[in-house]
Amino acid sequence: MQIQENVILAPYTTFKIGGPARYFCIVKDQFDALEAYEFAKEKKLKTFVLGGGSNLLISDEGFDGLVIKVVNKGIEVLKEDESRVLLRVASGEVWDEVVRFAVTNNWWGIENLSHIPGSSGAIAVQNVGAYGQEASRVIESVTVFNKDTHQIISINNQDCKFAYRKSIFNSEEKGKYIIFNIDFNLSKIPAPVLSYRDLSQKFTNSIPSLSEIRSAVIEIRNKKFPFPVEAKNGNAGSFFKNPILEGRSYQELKNKLANSFGASAVEALEKKKFEEGNVIKVPAAYLIDICGLKELKNGGAAINKNQPLVIINHSGKATAKDVLGLAEKVKEEVYSKTGISLFFEPELIGFN
Ligand SMILES: Cc1cc2nc3c(=O)[nH]c(=O)nc-3n(C[C@H](O)[C@H](O)[C@H](O)COP(=O)(O)OP(=O)(O)OC[C@H]3O[C@@H](n4cnc5c(N)ncnc54)[C@H](O)[C@@H]3O)c2cc1C
Repeated sequence: MQIQENVILAPYTTFKIGGPARYFCIVKDQFDALEAYEFAKEKKLKTFVLGGGSNLLISDEGFDGLVIKVVNKGIEVLKEDESRVLLRVASGEVWDEVVRFAVTNNWWGIENLSHIPGSSGAIAVQNVGAYGQEASRVIESVTVFNKDTHQIISINNQDCKFAYRKSIFNSEEKGKYIIFNIDFNLSKIPAPVLSYRDLSQKFTNSIPSLSEIRSAVIEIRNKKFPFPVEAKNGNAGSFFKNPILEGRSYQELKNKLANSFGASAVEALEKKKFEEGNVIKVPAAYLIDICGLKELKNGGAAINKNQPLVIINHSGKATAKDVLGLAEKVKEEVYSKTGISLFFEPELIGFN
């Protein structure tokens, strides 16, 4: 395995932003992983595991350590019966190709997660979710390489401690593992999830097939924000997480909106909010919109008008400083007008 020096990271991210990695290597199996961590240990380097770079903002100064890019490939059926299939997916597989494969085979459970960029390993990290489906509902277990013990172990769904955009991999055990495979438990029995209005509106008279759902999700996503393929309009998807509120905090938000923007703002919020058990998910996009921030720009970075949760590298030359400056401004304004603290969804790498 080759370890390169001073590799510019921007091309490895969907934002197309980021300075150099002091060291960079490509890992395809546990032997490469072992070599990478021994190199880092010897040189006393920090390490960072990179997938498709679609949930990151890397600083203009880059990362002063070893970046480990995971590229192992393979999709394998481990077990199946009349109703279910257990699918093992290697981390380096492009996630959307995995969704397409499942849809083509008539396996249910990940179709609403269509058209999300990135690699399959990262799906477990932030418990990727969209349009009412979440990775945690179909992940059976995750196979990982422990960077300290150098052992390969399997972590079951419960021990991943999945929550909204959260797992042990981005919280209590962050940086401890390389994920090499994920086992997905998919259904052969139709189980469309149409709880999100955008999606249900498309199928008022009929029960859709898997491929119809996938096409609808792709169409909805393409209308909202650009799928990042080139430098221009690069992005990392939603930059802000949707706030999750309990009853009292939600009532406080309504009072604050009524004071700042009038009763119609509260009516609109009531229509847009999403109840999940005894908590309420508030669309951060609506808060950004009502605070009048949809047109905001900072250097080469801009809020995406059709879906203001997204910050885009609209000039193709935005710096990480432009993006972060814009995001901080949005956070401050939303807090001062609504009392809600927004949290960033992409991970910030190489910032002090
Ligand atoms: C246009 C667009 C739309 C998006 N839509 C959604 C959406 O609807 N829902 C959603 O949840 N997310 C969405 N995202 C965010 C992003 O695509 C997902 O979080 C994706 O799973 C990140 O995958 P990645 O391979 O690019 O990970 P990276 O950005 O490379 O890494 C993200 C994190 O995962 C870790 N990681 C990556 N691979 C491994 C591995 N093999 N082992 C251990 N750790 C690893 C990294 O260290 C880092 O902490 C979107 C992004 C874009 C650009």
